[in-house]
Amino acid sequence: MRSAPERRDLLRAVYEEARGCVRCPLHQTRTTVVFGAGDADADLMFIGEAPGANEDRMGLPFVGQAGKLLDKLLAEISMDRKDVFICNTLKCRPPENRDPHPNEIEACQDYLRSQVELIEPTVICTLGNFSTKLLRADSTGISRLHGHEEVRTIGPRAVRLYPLYHPAAALYTPSTLEALRKDFHRIPGLLALGPPEQPQSYEPVPEIDDEPGEAHEPPVAVGQPEPAAQLGLF
Ligand code: URA
Repeated sequence: MRSAPERRDLLRAVYEEARGCVRCPLHQTRTTVVFGAGDADADLMFIGEAPGANEDRMGLPFVGQAGKLLDKLLAEISMDRKDVFICNTLKCRPPENRDPHPNEIEACQDYLRSQVELIEPTVICTLGNFSTKLLRADSTGISRLHGHEEVRTIGPRAVRLYPLYHPAAALYTPSTLEALRKDFHRIPGLLALGPPEQPQSYEPVPEIDDEPGEAHEPPVAVGQPEPAAQLGLF
């Protein structure tokens, strides 16, 4: 068992790794790696799709209109974004806000899996199709799955996976907003259930990228602002 400060330090190390990531072509067009923000020991985690233009510029997830709706829905259940951890399936913005490509999801997924392992959430709300399909390893779409929680094992961690409509989809479609709000209001009840029973064996996530015997060089920032702005994030 790792303590919360140990897990936070490891999360920072994963963030440092991600800041210099060149695993997929999106590193050529991003401004900032949007790793995620919030409480590194949160019980509740939200996983969206990918950063948009505002997120890419600011280095923070969900800072545009969809993020404002997320904040509003959190307030309705007496929570704040500092109480939760918010991140995305992709850590870099796809150009023109196009959908993530399979090779990008594949290249980026270790970061997400490390985040889940190190944050140890009880409930993960996947927002929209991309994170839902990735974490369920299944192509069933969000309109069938939203509002239906299930226990899923992600890496070493069993969580209550709770797919929700993406807030961006709810911005202009009142019936989607109504469904999202109704599903959202069930989150406190799911959190109150506590963590599901955990798998017996626990193998810590391997270090990303270090070859055995290779000295660890700090990742090279590619078009990144100073890290201090993001290091205060969790
Ligand atoms: N949409 C997402 O999926 N993520 C963001 O960070 C912003 C908008």
